[in-house]
Amino acid sequence: MTATSSQETFPRAPSWPYCGRDAAPDSVGCHGRSVEPHAACLAHLTDADRCTYLALLQPGADLDHRGTPFTAELLSQLLAALTNPATNGRTWATPGSTPRFSATTPPSTR
Ligand SMILES: [Zn+2]
Repeated sequence: MTATSSQETFPRAPSWPYCGRDAAPDSVGCHGRSVEPHAACLAHLTDADRCTYLALLQPGADLDHRGTPFTAELLSQLLAALTNPATNGRTWATPGSTPRFSATTPPSTR
């Protein structure tokens, strides 16, 4: 898997525990919410740690990936982890629950 990196700079730290990848003097680095117990966000976890995290997701789990620079591939991995194959692709989310999920979209500079 290729590394994901948004080219945005964030001079201020967010209000949540964040990744901080690619921090520089004028940027606090990646704003992606740290995936506990790791320091990195979902996009910057090692492949092994990401696989472990995705494998442990449970029906109705609260997701918090604020600020995480999602790629289409990463989003697909997350959605696949939350999809119940026994229900033909419907998600595990329990009725009435609203997934708390936000992400930044990498800028399309092509
Ligand atoms: Zn990150």
